[in-house]
Amino acid sequence: MSAENDGLQADTPTQHDQHGHWPRATTVEDFRRNLAAVRERIAAACRRAGRDPAGVRLLPVSKTVDEARIRLAYDAGCRFLGENKLQEAARKWEAMSDLGDLKWSIIGHLQTNKAKLVARFAAEFQALDSLRVAEALDRRLQAEGRALDVFVQVNTSGEASKYGLHPDDVEDFLRQMPTFPALRVRGLMTLALFSAEAERVRQCFVLLRTLRDRLRQDAPAGIGLDELSMGMSGDYEIAIEEGATVVRVGQAIFGARSTPDAYYWPTADSGPAS
Ligand SMILES: *Cc1c(COP(=O)(O)O)cnc(C)c1O
Repeated sequence: MSAENDGLQADTPTQHDQHGHWPRATTVEDFRRNLAAVRERIAAACRRAGRDPAGVRLLPVSKTVDEARIRLAYDAGCRFLGENKLQEAARKWEAMSDLGDLKWSIIGHLQTNKAKLVARFAAEFQALDSLRVAEALDRRLQAEGRALDVFVQVNTSGEASKYGLHPDDVEDFLRQMPTFPALRVRGLMTLALFSAEAERVRQCFVLLRTLRDRLRQDAPAGIGLDELSMGMSGDYEIAIEEGATVVRVGQAIFGARSTPDAYYWPTADSGPAS
């Protein structure tokens, strides 16, 4: 348990054992109900932590979900969606360009040669983890005449399968960011350990928050560290108790994915450790 909360929330369980059990949303009503249920759990986690729910943004994650169901989610009120794979996101952006106020957040690892595409349509990029990508993105954004909100991804679980900077390297990395004026750094992002052991999951979130608190004190001018993007369907309540300002929730809104986690985290086991 973390010293900060005196163990008051130490028994909030993960929902990782729910994997594969979230019911599939197929109507606008399903989406309204699922969104309301997630928002209620967000509010409850905020109450436990003495936080204002207005300080937590719910980012629905629509990876693997087809266009027809995304349009239902839109009808239920979703206007900002997270996608892990860039090609899939670009395809959906084009197909749904008639929905003028629908925005896309790229939350997965990016290869340098895809920076141009991100610069063209993304509203946010949450997985910045190398100077090469920062440099390529900045150049492409300047060519498009725009700036982009970005999060620096940190590997807090120590697993080789998870992308992100080593926590010890974040300070130096942030020091380089002012050389990329088209990148507006908003905060840090992480994926916790996929585990049913809530205490080990919580430690990943605590690590990100304490790192942020330490670095915020003398962050370079213009580098914002207000945001902490952490928590997904299985663990967003714990993340909120530990300070998340953005939670990225897919399956609890859209329903279970059939694609194994190993597709997104290449050397991960095919399912969550438990
Ligand atoms: C898929 C994904 C999520 C959401 O996971 P769910 O289990 O569907 O809630 C969150 N963050 C990232 C980076 C993802 O790729």
